[in-house]
Amino acid sequence: MTGNENADANLKVSINGTLFDKADAKISVFDHGLLYGDGVFEGMRSYAGRVFRLERHLQRLYESAKAIRLEIPISPARMADDVQTTLQANAIRDGYIRLVVTRGAGTLGLDPNRTSHPQVIIIAGKIELYPERLYREGMEIVTVSTIRNHPAALSPRIKSLNYLNNIMAKLEGLQAGCSEALMLNHIGEIAECTGDNIFLVHRGKLSTPPVEAGILEGITREVVMELAQEAGSVCLQRPLTKHDVYIADECFLTGSAAEVIPVVKVDGRPIGTGKPGPITIDLMRRFHECTQRAH
Ligand code: PMP
Repeated sequence: MTGNENADANLKVSINGTLFDKADAKISVFDHGLLYGDGVFEGMRSYAGRVFRLERHLQRLYESAKAIRLEIPISPARMADDVQTTLQANAIRDGYIRLVVTRGAGTLGLDPNRTSHPQVIIIAGKIELYPERLYREGMEIVTVSTIRNHPAALSPRIKSLNYLNNIMAKLEGLQAGCSEALMLNHIGEIAECTGDNIFLVHRGKLSTPPVEAGILEGITREVVMELAQEAGSVCLQRPLTKHDVYIADECFLTGSAAEVIPVVKVDGRPIGTGKPGPITIDLMRRFHECTQRAH
């Protein structure tokens, strides 16, 4: 057993407000979260013991739940308290928090009405970032053939437990030797990566696909747009195509886990100079500063 696994064994997981040892943190095999991916989740970061943009994450969680008519049995304020309790129980200051709300245990049929109580799970752990080298040198991604869910079928704005669309794309990316994969939408526009939003810089102008392109409204994406504004530049939300990616001077991804990470190669083509660009580097610095401020 490695040191890491040892530390893991002491992990405390919150289920419905009670803390359990990792080995005892269990829910029913009849839970529709497991049987059908019926539930919602959030992935958040804590910096110096404070959860970054907690309110915004809770808002998205409750809205995702509302969209699938899942009533979360506790208030956002109570959820925020339980998140803090879980962080403290694990003595985590800089970490990653996963919030999961499942539909609850039910019959083998789909009917969400024939389930009991939604289960609220909070896991606080250490963060697994991309290797440090990729933040310095930039990462390589590929466009994959799995298209992002059609928003009229299942809105990518819902952060649901059913992530197979993204997993299919991730498999393609990994097959091509890339740790992130770029997904297009049903009309061939750039949507987002499997767990990150995408930004481009072209002739000094920052742009990112709009929500209507069929993406998750990333909270890191929002923060980066605010930071760009603070820096005196506007970020355009506009439909983007592979052409825009290939002619971009800079490209980067955003996500709670990834933060801001430069992309220097897409589909085997170097982006810009093939090195992280100045606007990306500036936004990475601003983002880091922002996480260290009160938020
Ligand atoms: N898109 C998808 C599909 C994601 O899963 C995530 C990660 N939650 C993001 C974008 C980035 O969102 P955020 O900045 O809120 O973590």
